Amino acid sequence: MINETYKARLSAKSVIRELSEYATARGQEIGYENVFDYSLGNPSVPTPKEYNDSVIKMYETMDSMSLHGYSPSLGRPDVREDIAAYLAKTYGLPYTAGHIFPTTGAAGALAHALRLVSKPGDEVIGFAPYFPEYGPYVGDCGLNLRIVPAQVEDFQIDMAAFESMMNPNVAAVLINSPNNPSGVVYSEETLKNLADILRKKQDEYGHEIFLISDEPYREIVFDGKECPYPSRYYDNTLSCYSYSKSLSLPGERIGYVAVNPAAKDADLLVPIMAQISRGIGHNCPSSTAQLGVASVCGITSDLSVYETNRNILYAKLTELGFTVVKPGGTFYIFPKALEDDSVAFCKKALEYDLVLVPADNFGCPGYFRMAYCIDTEKVERSLPALERLAADYK
Ligand code: PLP
Repeated sequence: MINETYKARLSAKSVIRELSEYATARGQEIGYENVFDYSLGNPSVPTPKEYNDSVIKMYETMDSMSLHGYSPSLGRPDVREDIAAYLAKTYGLPYTAGHIFPTTGAAGALAHALRLVSKPGDEVIGFAPYFPEYGPYVGDCGLNLRIVPAQVEDFQIDMAAFESMMNPNVAAVLINSPNNPSGVVYSEETLKNLADILRKKQDEYGHEIFLISDEPYREIVFDGKECPYPSRYYDNTLSCYSYSKSLSLPGERIGYVAVNPAAKDADLLVPIMAQISRGIGHNCPSSTAQLGVASVCGITSDLSVYETNRNILYAKLTELGFTVVKPGGTFYIFPKALEDDSVAFCKKALEYDLVLVPADNFGCPGYFRMAYCIDTEKVERSLPALERLAADYK
């Protein structure tokens, strides 16, 4: 018998995917260069040469069995060591290989982290606006995702609302900074306040509450700043990282979970995740992807185009009267629509071949997301279309 739960999802397709498909179809009619497609968060800059060179060299020089054989279920030891050394140097926490678990991107990291620290029926608290895939990521672990409403003035965390939703059933709190879709980077103050509440609640309830920190955009931060590293503020943190955005490698499906060395039972957590892998058919990312990323620790694609695009769009949107928080990172911007119904607003935008994503699925109705991981030249050409759209609301 076919599973009805998954079958039902076929009729509730992702709005983002649907819009992206629309953009492709429209592109076939008028030329894709004339469709201002702000729908998908697919990186638009090439993978760095260092990565390509290193992978080519691996294929040319490494023993075939070692390169293509099964990776140990905990991940390759040499790769885990390299990643741990990089994280220890960069963030000042005493990571060792034993704290690193390579995964298939951030999605794979979250699949393990969520199962690691919960049992079916527990709650996970997230914060609006949020990545819509958190619904299936959390729900399919048998967990209940509860969302703290957005603090729309700055898209930091409404601590009072968060604290009021805490209860003994909460196993984990899921954050994402820099944030998809708002582009906001959580401040140190936000992370400190969040950690204070979590510590207080751990004491009150007598059990650990893990912070699961989803960090695929960690390096895409603007204005010369750095993203505060959540694990530095709270011991029971699992950092879920992905190379999809920083190295423009989403198709390679590679990332990791980094367990804070001071977390409860830190040395046991990676071996337990390897047990989780057995049941969910994950069994390690490919060896070539593991080796490839480990050989370029600390290197990223040239991410500067995202800041250029942010500057252009933020200036234009504010000039046109949109309410919008300036993104501190990522390649997303999240303005308020010019009418209450952001679905209707985004439909209207299609008349100008502007593909914008309504934010109802991000837990923040009335807003919309623009993924500006596209060429700057196209961003510039889209500005008259944005002007015409705004003029319809004057
Ligand atoms: N988390 C967030 C916030 C994302 O934006 C994405 C991808 O866009 C993911 C997780 C999944 O990342 P990956 O492709 O590395 O699995």
